[in-house]
This record gives sequence, C-alpha cells and structure tokens, in this order.
Amino acid sequence: MDAKTEKSNLIEGATGEWEVVIGMEVHAQVTSNAKLFSGASTAFGGDPNSHVSLVDAAMPGMLPVINEFCVAQAVRTGLGLKAAINLYSVFDRKNYFYPDLPQGYQISQYKNPIVGEGEVIVDLLSGERVVVGIERLHLEQDAGKSLHDQHPQNSYVDLNRSGVALMEIVSKPDLRSSEQARAYVSKLRTILRYLGTCDGNMEEGSLRADVNVSVRRPGDAFGTRCEIKNVNSIRFIGQSIEYEARRQIEILETGGEIIQETRLFDAKTGETRSMRSKEEAHDYRYFPDPDLLPLELTQNYVDGLAADLPELPDEKRARFIADYGLTPYDADVLVAERESVDYFEAVAAGRDAKQAANWVINELFGRLNKEGLNILDSPISADQLGGIVDLIKAGTISGKIAKDVFDIVWTEGGDPAEIVEARGLKQVTDVGRIEKTVDEIIAANPEKLAQAKEKPALIGWFVGQVMKATGGKASPQAVNELLKSKLGLE
Ligand code: ADP
Ligand code: MG
Repeated sequence: MDAKTEKSNLIEGATGEWEVVIGMEVHAQVTSNAKLFSGASTAFGGDPNSHVSLVDAAMPGMLPVINEFCVAQAVRTGLGLKAAINLYSVFDRKNYFYPDLPQGYQISQYKNPIVGEGEVIVDLLSGERVVVGIERLHLEQDAGKSLHDQHPQNSYVDLNRSGVALMEIVSKPDLRSSEQARAYVSKLRTILRYLGTCDGNMEEGSLRADVNVSVRRPGDAFGTRCEIKNVNSIRFIGQSIEYEARRQIEILETGGEIIQETRLFDAKTGETRSMRSKEEAHDYRYFPDPDLLPLELTQNYVDGLAADLPELPDEKRARFIADYGLTPYDADVLVAERESVDYFEAVAAGRDAKQAANWVINELFGRLNKEGLNILDSPISADQLGGIVDLIKAGTISGKIAKDVFDIVWTEGGDPAEIVEARGLKQVTDVGRIEKTVDEIIAANPEKLAQAKEKPALIGWFVGQVMKATGGKASPQAVNELLKSKLGLE
C-alpha cells in the first residue's frame, strides 16, 4: 500500500478489497466582467445571444485580444494553489466541430499552461488530511450552448457563454474515496471564493468537474480510468464515483476489462453511462494560435499580484487554532465561507475570540441553518452580536439571559445594551438579594435539602429553582457559591 492508502477507504468486492483512484479536471469560470478575448459581457441570464461580440460569433477577420484581467485572475489562482507560475505560456487552437462553437476550434493552452504544479490541502471531518497535487491550470474559452427544447424540429444556439474565460484546474490522481473527492472540490471552491477568481456557483455552471475514476488492488499499479464528464454538483460527484467504482469492480471481478472511455452521469438514476470510447476520441490537432502571441509575464508582475493576495483559508485556520485556541473543527466551520469568516472576525475583533466563535457557530449559524438563511441575510449584525458578547463579559447579563437578548435582537432588532436596560434584564449580582431567595427556597424544601446533603449533585435542582424565582437574572456564580456554603458542601 502506498502512503495514501487508508484501510477505511477500501471497497469490499466479492473477491477481496479494492481501492478507488480519482483525479479531477475542474472547470472554473473566471470572475471577470468581460470575456477572455473580447469585450462582451459575461453576465449570467441575459436574453439568448445578447452578450455576443463579432469575435465571439467568429466573424471572418475578427482578431482575439487577450483580457489582462483574466490573466491576472489565473495567476492569482495559481498563487492561491501554491503553484508554479509559468512566465511563458502559449495559447493553442483545439480543433473540433460543434454547432455552438462557431470558430471551429477552442482557444486553450496545451503544452505550455500559465500555471504548473501546486497543491490543495484537504481536511476531512474524521481528522484525516489529504494533500492533493495540482498538475496544472490553464486558461481556455467556454463554448456556447445548444438549446434542444425550444422548438419541435429545430435546435437553437445561444452564444452568450461563447468566449467566456475558464480556468481548467487538473489534479493529480491523488484522491482515494468519494468523500475525499467531494471535500477536495469544496476546498477548491472555498479557495477560489476567497481569491475572488471564481464565484463557485455550480447551479449556474460556474464550476463543473470532469471526474476520472479507476480501481485497483491495494498496492497495484493504477488501473484504466473512465472520465465522467461535466458533473455539476458536489453531491453528484460523490454519487458518480460510488457508482462508477462499483461498476468497474464488478467488471473486473467477473473477468472483464475496463475500456477507457468518456461517460455521463445521470442524476435521475444515479448511474453513469458510456458517451464515447477512446477509439472515438477526437484528434484535436492542437497548434499555437497564430492570432495570439505567446504570453510573457515578468516576475515583478507576479510578485505584485502575490503581495496583494488575501489571507487564505489554510492560513486563517492555522491562525485561529494557534492564536485563538479554537478547535480544528470550529476553525474549519468558520473558514469554510469567506462571508462567514469576515463576520466572525468582526465579532472577534477586540474580544475573547473563543467566546465569539461559540456565539457565531452555536447561536448564529445554528439559527441561520434552522431558518434556511445565508450569513449575508443575518438579521443580527456582527456589531450587535459583539454587543451581546460584551454584555456577558462585563457581567451585565448571564449567558442564559444573553440567549434571550439574542432572540429579541433577531426578531425585533435594536441595540443589545439598550434592550437589557429597557427591559430590566440586568444580572442581579447583589448577594444580599440573592441570599434572600436562596434562604426562602431552602426553607420551603426541607426534604430536598436533606437529600442534597447526601447527594451533592442535587445542588443543580436548587440552582434551577433560584434562577426560576429570579427570572434567570441572578448571577449563576453567586447562586452556586451561596448554595454550596448553605448546604455545607464546601
Ligand atoms: P488527459 O490528458 O488524457 O486528459 P491526464 O493524464 O491529463 O489525461 O489526466 C487527466 C485526469 O485524469 C487528471 O486529473 C489525472 O489525475 C486523472 N488520472 C490519470 N490517470 C488516472 C487513473 N489511472 N485513475 C484515475 N484518474 C486518473
Ligand atoms: Mg483531460
């Protein structure tokens, strides 16, 4: 077994254990207002053929002009993937015919991509960590879209996407389970969103994956792979791998052979089916596009982009664990989305970060989840939540009352400190007042008192009674201390 083989990832077949090997080619649409080689808009959802320049429609004599912003986005992505940036790269023509590809070729990068080898660190819920190698990242044009459901006899073509910049991010075959593959795509998407180089919106097709799957006996050489094209959700990526691995194992176990081919995932049945075999594969006749010069960058230019990179999820995660003492799990939850981490950092600024994390994760995320809301739609701002944390810290309210204040701010809005003042929610720290209540409750419950002296855990019952009698406003610490001394438990 190689270092990546984990016993728990193996699949039990009829004749023994198998290991699945997965490599991904992710197509990520570059966040940019204009296309890769034209000034036409990339906006999603426009009327068909409303965002098409003469270049995108491949009118004779039109010349592509490289969009510098897209180049910068690809370099920034490469830097975020800890990858080598190639100062010299070349745009090639990849020739094939498709009705929604008016040029008759796609401009892509073949032998000389703009980004070389890098890596993505993937942390799984189990605590397992996988370092996934990145083979390359290259820039290419997206194709248009054929519409087959608009007319009984005819197909239509919408060229709005034609020429939109894509980054194809190719991983090494380093993934060993569907769970790892899903986590890899999630992590990649998180990194792209932090960088602002791809919005990662899989429903709109901004991120889609070709999933390469093979199986082997643990320790054997790689098996023949099949490529599942254009899988457009993380759940489907997992399902397609599970199905495809089982299919291949069954063929091999009954003496068959895997034929290298391209397959499609059918979300309705959860199955993959053959699209074309390797024999039918295109010969793309790649050659350097004579309309475009090789792309030459200076190290200075790359260094400038590197200096402007935001702090990325791995670095934030490490900082939260080392400096704030957060658990790896809490740190993972917080860094998963850029908007969430911005919110958390605003609450944590100048406050106890661990307490801030507890409130953000348990109360805020919990409530948002329950109500199906996104962090951007949170009815409580980071300022307001920070205000609640401040009131607890100052001893003005107890943690329990803080939850009530949270609920009030959530439903009615307002400033937490003013709410506490106006509604008389301040914690009672006056020991004399609390003692009076404690004495009353002890006097009214002589049996419980006798029991508590035998069984100190019953002190909790008394604490509950005092809290109830004071409307939750007594300082829990003062109540505990008073009860302990009165019950002789110290
Ligand atoms: P091609 O150029 O024919 O598409 P590559 O070697 O570039 O082939 O590989 C494409 C993808 O397939 C990569 O993501 C790679 O990790 C993956 N891959 C290569 N070999 C295997 C294999 N035996 N099993 C699973 N995935 C593989
Ligand atoms: Mg490929």
